[in-house]
Amino acid sequence: TDAKPRAAGTVGIRVQGIERDYEGFKALAGIDLQIHPGELVALLGPSGSGKTTLLRIIAGLEFATEGSVFFGAEDATHLSVQQRRVGFVFQHYALFKHLTVADNIAYGLKVRPRRERPPAAAIKRRVEELIDLVQLNDLGRRYPAQLSGGQRQRVALARALAVEPRVLLLDEPFGALDAKVRKDLRRWLREIHDRTGHTTIFVTHDQDEALELADRVAILSNGRLEQVGTPDEVYENPASPFVLSFLGDTARLPVEVRDDKVFLAGEALDVAVPPGTGPGKHDIYLRPNELTLTEAGTGVPGIIASVRRTVNGRRAEVRVAFSDKLIELDVPPGADLNVSDRIGLKVQQARLFPSG
Ligand code: ATP
Repeated sequence: TDAKPRAAGTVGIRVQGIERDYEGFKALAGIDLQIHPGELVALLGPSGSGKTTLLRIIAGLEFATEGSVFFGAEDATHLSVQQRRVGFVFQHYALFKHLTVADNIAYGLKVRPRRERPPAAAIKRRVEELIDLVQLNDLGRRYPAQLSGGQRQRVALARALAVEPRVLLLDEPFGALDAKVRKDLRRWLREIHDRTGHTTIFVTHDQDEALELADRVAILSNGRLEQVGTPDEVYENPASPFVLSFLGDTARLPVEVRDDKVFLAGEALDVAVPPGTGPGKHDIYLRPNELTLTEAGTGVPGIIASVRRTVNGRRAEVRVAFSDKLIELDVPPGADLNVSDRIGLKVQQARLFPSG
């Protein structure tokens, strides 16, 4: 059972067989995606992969060439943006410059037709609640120009929530902010989501942001869904070399498959051979933390090509002796490594993909 709160009226979304052509160019192809009520899903992919197009089709800002969009059980494919009742936040906050924070948040409620508009006192109360929710206390009377970028995005979210949307759609909402503010806002958004429980779709090209924030991640490449899964699933079991390398640094090394075993430079590795993989030459894929150093003369021979500092410690670039390939590995703390040192490499873990 799910103890999380769920916003009243929020619905799940189902996207079925979506295609989007732009004069012969396929921006989206064969997209099927189901998002559960109250779920936070990140659409993740490189620039041009189709994230924004998919979000805009879900919003009703753009129409698909083929396929359907359901909001709950309702076929929303031909509904307008207004009829869909979605809340938006874009990368470039479109706040009204001439309105205060409080009036920006109240805007969507104040412009409703008279018979749907809450009384002024109720709007005021709702705005106060939202200012409190997004932690903008004391800033209600300020104008957008008097706020930081991060504060403006908090206002934009409060404004989107004010109208009690059925779903919340966020297009790179923190994309224009610096790394530290982004990180803070990411946690903050997750907290808000956990308190309000709106079905939320979040577009980002930032892997860390998607993995940290989302219940599930939908990874797009060239207009196609490569994989949909929880952050753990996509990280631990990437469906393709694309997903693996998009989620972080990856090296590829040539191996040989014989008798259902994988050999790297003559050494048998502890790597599973996917069903249907024939004997012969293939590639394995591994992450920098899946390789460890051993003494020269053991493991796969290599030569240190460079050593550099990273956020998490140090990383070495190693030229693999037998293939002349450069691969990266994380350097153990305290290791004394110098360029041109001969070393051995031990593969702790690696992946072989069915087609690879
Ligand atoms: P980014 O992270 O750079 O915003 P994205 O993943 O959101 O990228 P989209 O904006 O959805 O990608 O674009 C997907 C593809 O469709 C791109 O190749 C883009 O050039 C193309 N495209 C988008 N809109 C149009 C349009 N109106 N006319 C023609 N091509 C378009």
